[in-house]
Formats: sequence, C-alpha cells, structure tokens
Amino acid sequence: MPKSSASLLKLLKHSIRIRIKVPQSIKNFTTSAAAGYSNSIPKEKVDCVVIGAGVVGIAIARELAFKGRQVLVLDSASTFGTATSSRNSEVIHAGIYYPPNSLKAVFCVKGREMMYSYCSEHGVPHKQLGKLIVATRDSEIPKLNELLIRGTENGVDGLRMIDNSEARRMEPELQCVKALLSPVSGIVDSHSLMLSLLGEAENMGTIFSYNTTVIGGHLEGNQIHLHIIGSKNLDSWNGGDTLHPELVLVPKFVVNSAGLAAVSLAKRLIGLDHGVIPSTYYARGCYFTLSKTKPPFTHLIYPIPEDGGLGVHVTLDLDGLVKFGPNVEWIGGISDISVFLNRFDYSVCPDKADRFYPEIRKYYPSLKDGSLEPGYAGIRTKLSGPRQMPADFVIQGEEVHRVPGLVNLFGIESPGLTSSMAISQHIASRLFV
Ligand SMILES: Cc1cc2nc3c(=O)[nH]c(=O)nc-3n(C[C@H](O)[C@H](O)[C@H](O)COP(=O)(O)OP(=O)(O)OC[C@H]3O[C@@H](n4cnc5c(N)ncnc54)[C@H](O)[C@@H]3O)c2cc1C
Repeated sequence: MPKSSASLLKLLKHSIRIRIKVPQSIKNFTTSAAAGYSNSIPKEKVDCVVIGAGVVGIAIARELAFKGRQVLVLDSASTFGTATSSRNSEVIHAGIYYPPNSLKAVFCVKGREMMYSYCSEHGVPHKQLGKLIVATRDSEIPKLNELLIRGTENGVDGLRMIDNSEARRMEPELQCVKALLSPVSGIVDSHSLMLSLLGEAENMGTIFSYNTTVIGGHLEGNQIHLHIIGSKNLDSWNGGDTLHPELVLVPKFVVNSAGLAAVSLAKRLIGLDHGVIPSTYYARGCYFTLSKTKPPFTHLIYPIPEDGGLGVHVTLDLDGLVKFGPNVEWIGGISDISVFLNRFDYSVCPDKADRFYPEIRKYYPSLKDGSLEPGYAGIRTKLSGPRQMPADFVIQGEEVHRVPGLVNLFGIESPGLTSSMAISQHIASRLFV
C-alpha cells in the first residue's frame, strides 16, 4: 500500500472509526464558518476521493484505480451499496425511453453492453430475459410506436412491435393489444456486481472507509477541502448544536457520487457557485412480491411509462421471485443529515396493495386477490418534480463550476445501475485525459 494511503488509513481509523474527542479549541467550529476553521483539526492531502460507495461510486473508484490513481472512497453507511443501489428493480435497461443523445440514452446503451460483457467475464449472475412494453388499450398504441422510434434512434438493437396473439404465445397470462419486444433487456444481481467491482478496486489499492460522512467542505483558493465526521457521531447529534468536522481531507480530485445526497452535499461546499446546482426532488417507489404462485411471466413486463417512473412493472429476480413496482410517491421535508445517513422511510404499508391490484390487472387480469405481499422500497433522486419533463443525468465538472478536480453527479436515477460502468469510464476520461 502506498505510504500516503497507509497514513491516511491510520488517520481515518483513529479519527473516524474510533470516536475521537473533539478538542475544545474547535468546539465553536461551524461548517458555515469553514474558511476560518481551527488548525487543530487533522488535515490530510489525498489524491482522489469518491464520495459514495453505491454502484456508481464503486465503478468510478475502480476506473480511477485502473488509471493508476490512489483512491479513497468514503461512505456514511456501514458498508457499500446500502442505499439506492440495493433498492431498485435490478433491470439492465435497453435504453429505449430517453431522448436521443441525452446522457441517459448514451450511458444506458453503452453501459448495458459493458455490463453484459463484464458480468459474463467475471461470473456476475445476470440473465438477458427480454422485455415486453405493453399497450393495454388502443389509445396507448401511439405511445408504443413513439417508444419504438425513440429506442431505435438510441441504438437499441432488435426492437420489434408484436401483436397480441404473438404476445400471448410468449406470455399466456398477459393481456395487451400490442407490445414492444426488447430482446436486449435483462436482470443482474446488483450486489454481486458491486462486490466484483469493489474487489477489483481494492486489489488496485483503493481504500473504502465506511461510517465516514462528508458533512460539507470549503474552497481555499481553488482547492477543495472536505469536512469529514464519523457517522456514529452524527447518530448522536441532536440537530441543534453546531457540527464539527473531525478530519479535513484535501484531495486533488473529488467525485461527488453521493446519490440521494449529492445535491445537498454540493450545497454544503462553501465557495462553490450554488447557482449551478440543480433543485432536487425525491420519489419513493414501493414493490410488492407475488406469493404462493409460480412466476406467471418469463419476460420483464412493463406498462406505458407514467409521470415520474416507468409504471408498475413486473420484474423477476435471479431466484425467480416476481416483483411488481415501483409506484411513484413524491416525498419531501428531509434534512441534509438525514439524507446523508439514508434515513428515509423505506417501509411498505400493506394497504398500498389496494392501489397495485388494479394497475397490475390491466396487463395481468388473473392476478388473485390476496396474492401481493409488501416487498421493499427505494427512493429516486430526481431533478424534475411532479408533472415536469423528465430531467437528464447532470454531470458537472470544472467547465461548469470552475473548481478544478471536482465532479458532481446529480440525478443519477434509473437507468443509473445500467449506466454505472459507462459513467465511470466517462468520469475517468474527463478527469484524466
Ligand atoms: C425504485 C428504483 C428502481 C430502480 N430501478 C433501476 C433499474 O431497474 N435499472 C437501473 O439501471 N437503474 C435503476 N434504478 C436507479 C439505480 O438504482 C440508481 O441510479 C443507482 O443505484 C445509483 O447509484 P449511486 O451509486 O449513484 O447511488 P447510491 O447507491 O444511493 O449510493 C450513494 C452512496 O452515497 C452515500 N452517501 C450519501 N451521503 C453521503 C455523505 N454525505 N458522505 C458519505 N457518503 C454518503 C450513501 O450511503 C450511499 O451508499 C432504480 C432506482 C430506484 C429508486
């Protein structure tokens, strides 16, 4: 392990994982008074910091490590992938829905190809099941035609419109008037994927520091300083007293890949132009699972997309469990620290099933009463609110905010899992030409 990494690890172990007593001299430190913080806070120079060990952050860390960089990944949780990366549909999307040339379209198509190759080469469980997007009434057919045109323009291979009899031959339980077949869609075991990427990153010297929260930062000159605190110390924070960093990291390069927290965190970087930081919205998506029945479908089944999401669809996991979801529930009023610590309400109230049955029966009419059981929930990080046009991913570097070495990733919602490896390659080539 390189010397500087070893000393940093030691420092992190002593300063963060093991609680330190904050010296009296820095008791009055506030993040808003950052420019004048006390010199008694340990300060460490590092090469690259990636904030967030979700699938995107891990993929970026691996890619930076391949470029020969010394990478430190910080995550507020006790291990990797505990937030959105383990609360999604695990679908490898084809790239159909997104406006041509958008980041979502480009990264999804490229990321899908990269992911299939990576999973095959590294033994990551995955399956190219194929997907049917279904029109359940004639009035939805024009939308299906639009998706066919858009997907083809995005470079999705093999898209084909099929009529209801062909759809029924493929899926006898399915009711639809027409369907768009996407043979390249599939599913992946996202935990195995993250584990594999993380293992490679670690083998190349990347250090993952968990229970480590970035609470903000500041610029000195144009040099970014990150304010770090042990997550356990935030747990006991009463919300009233000022927050004191326990460590200041001074990295050459920072990638803010904090998922749901990326916008809140960027707003806590004092000296960064807040005018370029987009607004953020959150939308919970709940899943129900199908109990006591053998899987009725062998393909992924999606209705026509709805406002804020892709509609309550059918996904199968690699164990054959059938999931229906996610719905769209807009939520708000959550503090920065709660977002950093992923303190969202992920419970799935059984009563919500009443709203799922009619949605699912539009394409699966023989769904039996009482067969849905509460599954899990995930939260979408969105840059567009209710009834607004869907926003693209936003990746901001120096050309936007004028801070050298800083990249902010905002709004990495679906298809972020599919896009993760393409995003990582893009970031690495942007930072290090
Ligand atoms: C309901 C739902 C279904 C989806 N389905 C699909 C799908 O089928 N296919 C697909 O391609 N995509 C899907 N997505 C999108 C995909 O899951 C996300 O785009 C992807 O997981 C985002 O990964 P990430 O690494 O950016 O974020 P995350 O996984 O959220 O990771 C961010 C990490 O940052 C950490 N963190 C936060 N704040 C701080 C801080 N201040 N300091 C240190 N660490 C911090 C968190 O602990 C977390 O581990 C879905 C999303 C949702 C919500």
